[in-house]
Amino acid sequence: MQLNETEKLLKREFLKEEKERVKKLYTTKHKEGFKTEEDFVKWYIGKIKEQDYKCFYCETSIFNIRELIKNKKLKTRKTGYGERGRVLEIDRKVNSNGYNEKNCVLSCYYCNNDKSYILNSEEYKENFGKNREKYFSKLLNKLNKNVSTSI
Ligand SMILES: [Zn+2]
Repeated sequence: MQLNETEKLLKREFLKEEKERVKKLYTTKHKEGFKTEEDFVKWYIGKIKEQDYKCFYCETSIFNIRELIKNKKLKTRKTGYGERGRVLEIDRKVNSNGYNEKNCVLSCYYCNNDKSYILNSEEYKENFGKNREKYFSKLLNKLNKNVSTSI
């Protein structure tokens, strides 16, 4: 019960943060698929809930990814746009198509960075996403083991 409340709070805080961050991402390239900044933010928040806070490809929760980053099991990358790793990114399933509701999914930085424009997104999910999920789970399990043995 208590854990549930903590999780709810965590998600609420996360969404609040994301709304502010995603607003700033809205640029000309998004205008065709999302008429206004408000439409864009609304889509993003809806999508993150629909995907249950998980990467479309490896289906790892962004909270688990943050846990791995915090414990230095994963590295982030600093760019002009901010730090890549701690948030889900907007990925176009077909790169030659624009930013719109049909073509966009939310991906972790690690999948997004790895997925090349020559790969079909469904094939990527099936073959590489699943392996990444296994790898992330292994890291998380090790982490949890370490936590329990240190108590
Ligand atoms: Zn991923």
